[in-house]
Amino acid sequence: MRRYRARWVIPVTRPPIELGCVVEHEGRIVFVGDRSNAPDGEDCDLGECVLLPGLINAHTHLELTAMRGFLEDLCFNDWIDKLRSSRNEALTTEMLLDAARFGIVEGLHSGVTTYADTCSSGVVMQALLEMGVRGIMYQETFGSSPAQCSASMDKLRLMVDELAPAQTDMVRLGISPHAPYTISDDLYEACALFAADCGLPMGLHISESAAEHELVSAGTGPFAVEWHARGLEVVPRARSPIALLERTGCLDGSPLLIHCVRLDSEDIATILRHECAVAHCPASNAKFGHGIAPITELLERGVTVALGSDSVASNNRMDILEEARLAALFQRAGKQSERVLPARQALELATIAGARALGIDDRVGSLETGKDADLAAFSLAAARVTPIGDVVAAILFAVAGTPAEFVAVKGRPLISGGRHVGGDPTVRERVSAAGDALAAWERRLPKSTRL
Ligand SMILES: [Zn+2]
Repeated sequence: MRRYRARWVIPVTRPPIELGCVVEHEGRIVFVGDRSNAPDGEDCDLGECVLLPGLINAHTHLELTAMRGFLEDLCFNDWIDKLRSSRNEALTTEMLLDAARFGIVEGLHSGVTTYADTCSSGVVMQALLEMGVRGIMYQETFGSSPAQCSASMDKLRLMVDELAPAQTDMVRLGISPHAPYTISDDLYEACALFAADCGLPMGLHISESAAEHELVSAGTGPFAVEWHARGLEVVPRARSPIALLERTGCLDGSPLLIHCVRLDSEDIATILRHECAVAHCPASNAKFGHGIAPITELLERGVTVALGSDSVASNNRMDILEEARLAALFQRAGKQSERVLPARQALELATIAGARALGIDDRVGSLETGKDADLAAFSLAAARVTPIGDVVAAILFAVAGTPAEFVAVKGRPLISGGRHVGGDPTVRERVSAAGDALAAWERRLPKSTRL
């Protein structure tokens, strides 16, 4: 038994406990409460820390970690074009795997213990397993032409056959038809049937940009221009991206809906009817200028909302406490009200709501007896938080952005004393070299085609 003692313990589903203690035994939490009542065990004193459940990143692309700073200030469709061509032409599978490993190291340093990742190459599954973290990898598929549908499905089936046997009780596989501007209606329908047949969860980028909405609802805009140039038929497909997903059967399995920046009341009713959760990515949405997702409305109507960092190619960091802080600030600024998204609720989005969105809230997301010991501790002293005042407000508004002092997944310490336990220090150099390879790829392009 290990007794983790901290100045504050925030179980999330119960009020904070000053001078609290969490006791772990064989990966499970066996006690949460006042340290004077804790059962005997080996003491691990975290000192002036706040001990939280491990944070949950409900949307990221770990394989893109080498692209930090490489796609700056591009409009959305140029950003996607440059990402796709550079990934295919400049990065090897080994580089993508190192990027995924390094992305997890970054996440661990900010207290993230669970990763919901959408991945094109399939390498993230191996990275999650190797690094000892929890997560789900949604294997992406692409194909905007109906003629590509069967080839895309063949490739997806092959990837799923290859990856599915590697699943464990901590790492699962799902699928992700990428987005309305890269997926035909036929491919959406085929993916929905495949996911239902195989019992695979889906994660879907949806309702992210004005350009996406315009393509779906009117058949116009910058994505429509690209489709026309490729000889694809462009017609209005549905009244909104959410309506498109419903019509193609993609909402039947209650998928995780990523972004949801542009929703109307009818879309929210559809999301509720299909019991979908939403992964909200406030930093990425703001950086692209896509807008602020209506999460106050989603929460008021009872939709589960989790938080995602998105990739570092669009953020440029992975810090879920910071996403919770931004979510609260953006909602309050947007609504011109101090009453929306209180700190307590914003912290729930980063923890228990994230777990609920991924269907693992019986195991993680809060500090409760019987749950797995996924833990993240942040030092109030390192964040120079004095006085503390309201401790939940402190963790959200003052500590966010500070590296974690201690992190464990299922009882296994992965960050201790602020350092990655057993990490490979050479990964950083290899990811830096992958960044150099991207820069060299760009230099080789004719000047006229550089974005
Ligand atoms: Zn994404």
